[in-house]
Amino acid sequence: MTNRRRFIMMVPLTGAALAAACSEKAPPPEAAPAAPAPVAPAPAPMAAPEPAAAPAPTAPAAAGGPMVEETEPTAMALGYVADAARVDKVKHPNFVEGSVCANCVLYQGAAGSESGPCPLFSGKQVSAQGWCASYAKKPG
Ligand code: SF4
Repeated sequence: MTNRRRFIMMVPLTGAALAAACSEKAPPPEAAPAAPAPVAPAPAPMAAPEPAAAPAPTAPAAAGGPMVEETEPTAMALGYVADAARVDKVKHPNFVEGSVCANCVLYQGAAGSESGPCPLFSGKQVSAQGWCASYAKKPG
């Protein structure tokens, strides 16, 4: 009961205190209008990142596509090697020394080129010093 009595007695006092507090002229929260915050300069538009420099393609690949990999299925089937010195002569007894892509009738690279297209490997380049089982000596 003591608590109840104290509460009842405090209510009017608290109300009066609140009324007094509210009636006092409180200073405005900000005495003076705040100066507008300096606006940070807009960041300069970001320049588009420079594209990463692509590795300089080798001249033959740039001329006509990527080089044939010896591990490609077609290359494996034809026994293609990028260096005719590595021809497996047991597997390819018909290989004749000096036979290379550069003097094959199917070779489409320019004379003296290091590589060039071959219709057996569409879109790719074979090494001028390569060889495959479909080799056919260029006439002349
Ligand atoms: Fe080289 Fe001729 Fe074989 Fe083509 S067909 S990969 S040019 S040897």
